[in-house]
Amino acid sequence: MIPYGHQSISDDDIEAVVKVLRGDWLTQGPVVEEFEERLAAITEARYAVVFSNGTAALHAACTAAGVGPGSTLATSTLTFVASANCGLYTGADVALVDIDPATLNLDPLQIPADIDALVAVHYAGLPIDMSALPVRPRVIIEDAAHAIGARTPSGPVGNCAHSDMTIFSFHPVKTITAAEGGAVTTNSPELAEALRRFRTHGIIRPDPTSHVYVIEEIGYNYRLSDLHAALGNSQLVKLDSFIARRNELAAQYRELLEPLPVKLAPEAPGDAADGWLHGRHLYPVRVAQRDKIFKTLRSRGIGVQVHYVPVYRHHLYREMGHAPHAFPATESAYHELLSLPLYPDLTDAQQRTVVDELESAIHEVAPSASASEAA
Ligand SMILES: *Cc1c(COP(=O)(O)O)cnc(C)c1O
Repeated sequence: MIPYGHQSISDDDIEAVVKVLRGDWLTQGPVVEEFEERLAAITEARYAVVFSNGTAALHAACTAAGVGPGSTLATSTLTFVASANCGLYTGADVALVDIDPATLNLDPLQIPADIDALVAVHYAGLPIDMSALPVRPRVIIEDAAHAIGARTPSGPVGNCAHSDMTIFSFHPVKTITAAEGGAVTTNSPELAEALRRFRTHGIIRPDPTSHVYVIEEIGYNYRLSDLHAALGNSQLVKLDSFIARRNELAAQYRELLEPLPVKLAPEAPGDAADGWLHGRHLYPVRVAQRDKIFKTLRSRGIGVQVHYVPVYRHHLYREMGHAPHAFPATESAYHELLSLPLYPDLTDAQQRTVVDELESAIHEVAPSASASEAA
């Protein structure tokens, strides 16, 4: 099976993890600190605080920003459910924003004016231009689980030039992995402190020479281990080459898919000279008869995926009154979206196999499909 995403692990990654195993620290220790320093350097943020996973990072970011009962947090319909659940964790209400079909990101023009917090998801790695948001709620969090290494004219995603915090995930399908792991970047020393407290039970140590510690608010054990951080840190060294290969594969998809009745994945609004770099976590195309094509490709060893079941379609969110008819752009995209395999170790030959299989699946399933039907 050619999967839709896969980690790239090399000997240097393995050696980095083994080195930690041979040392004194297994849980959060000096390698976590190193990982945080490197993350802050790469994203050009003042602070990076790492967590056990991206979902914990979202929970921490919402809590640190004071999102809670009485708040409304808005996010995209087309995202992994964690982008919305983080609001529910705090007791906030969740509002969902329909997508712009041209970008598959939330449509900035549809962000409600009266929300307290926004979780802006850079879907598939295409960063939203945060400088151009028409509304600026009290709290702005970027969900960059797909977008480490991406850039806009405001600089690297994660520098928080136009947001309070940015979260990342280091799950194995994401651009770099720590097996499990997440991070929040911010330029605020207060938020960085609140994030660190939240990560370790809310503990404050007023006097490091004393056994006494103080707990004023609830926290969790959301720490990352040095073992995980060693892998993440070693992967970060390769971030630029991973992103370059992902973009190369995306450009090749563009060419190879050109003759097929397939709508290509969205592109960044500018190129490197304009300051744009797509993170290319996913390559989501749109095809007619998606369910049939999905099954055909899966049966032939092509591990395509659908990103995502829209948040309002999950029972939990339906029960809260979110309904498909309110999100026409997401509904029409959802029935056609198909993520094609994209990861640095995907070979050119494997990529051609993916496209050949897609072409024959389209001919079998929808012999009369035309470009206009898919578009
Ligand atoms: C993966 C992902 C998360 C959660 O990250 P985990 O590390 O798996 O908890 C959050 N938001 C989006 C958009 C994601 O894709």
